[in-house]
Amino acid sequence: MINEINAKTLLNKNKKRDDWFLGNYTLNPYGGCSMACIYCYTNGSKYGGNYGVRVSAKINAVPILKKQLKNSIRRNERGIIILGSAADPYPSVEKDLTLTRQILGIIKRYKFPIHILTKSELILRDMDILNGIKEVAILPDDLSDKLDNGVIISFSFSTLDEKLSKIIEPGAPSPIERLETMKKYSDAGFKTGIINMPTLPFLSDSEKEIESMVKASKKYRAHYVLYAGLTLYGDTPDDCKTVYYNFLEKNYPDLVPEYEKLFKGSNAPSKRYQNHLAIKYGEISNKYGVKNNIIV
Ligand code: SF4
Repeated sequence: MINEINAKTLLNKNKKRDDWFLGNYTLNPYGGCSMACIYCYTNGSKYGGNYGVRVSAKINAVPILKKQLKNSIRRNERGIIILGSAADPYPSVEKDLTLTRQILGIIKRYKFPIHILTKSELILRDMDILNGIKEVAILPDDLSDKLDNGVIISFSFSTLDEKLSKIIEPGAPSPIERLETMKKYSDAGFKTGIINMPTLPFLSDSEKEIESMVKASKKYRAHYVLYAGLTLYGDTPDDCKTVYYNFLEKNYPDLVPEYEKLFKGSNAPSKRYQNHLAIKYGEISNKYGVKNNIIV
């Protein structure tokens, strides 16, 4: 059953625009996520509780957002809103609840630009409102010559392997469904991209797998591919670090010592690994003429 909560605020302002996603604000209509990805960083991190598949809907989102957006306009603070920074804005309950759809309606009314992060094909339902936002959104001055319009949509992937995805992202649409959804938005004139976050050490970070991701971005008409390594947080049974290691022990026991060597008790893989990933990704993206950032 869905947990309904009354949020005190909805729109959170970043101290400065984040360089990767270009967000001035973050907004999460839901807490928790039905996609239940075992690597979900909100499980056990400072950003969330032990979410699992439990979903909380911020049922008072619409009046609060109206108030906050009006205040932002009054202060002349326009900027890009990241929708779904901590939890996918299209969990399964969204189909009936339409909370995200109502929020998009408010965003359109107040002409704010938006960057949506999702794995869900349910976003296709909202193409009419997103077309409306595309037409009216007012971009921050310094981005007005760098973006064609005020809607960016990123689809997240950890792997293109359908079998692996079923195990590690059991509630999410398959990778091919996500790619096809992305292409529908690209074909409709939206700026879309792949977020390969996280790439999974020894499971989806080989040259061949990165090349497949970059090639898929071309084939399905993404404008960019962003990537990042895996982070693992928390030690309680529901936390992503515990859940992820349980998955490894069950499916890839030989990888457990490899991960322990790579993470060395930290939340992220070694700097050496991260540099190596960046070099590999950069080289392969260059080879295919794919950008690793949203704006040039
Ligand atoms: S879709 Fe995103 S928010 Fe939802 S469980 Fe997966 S990683 Fe977490």
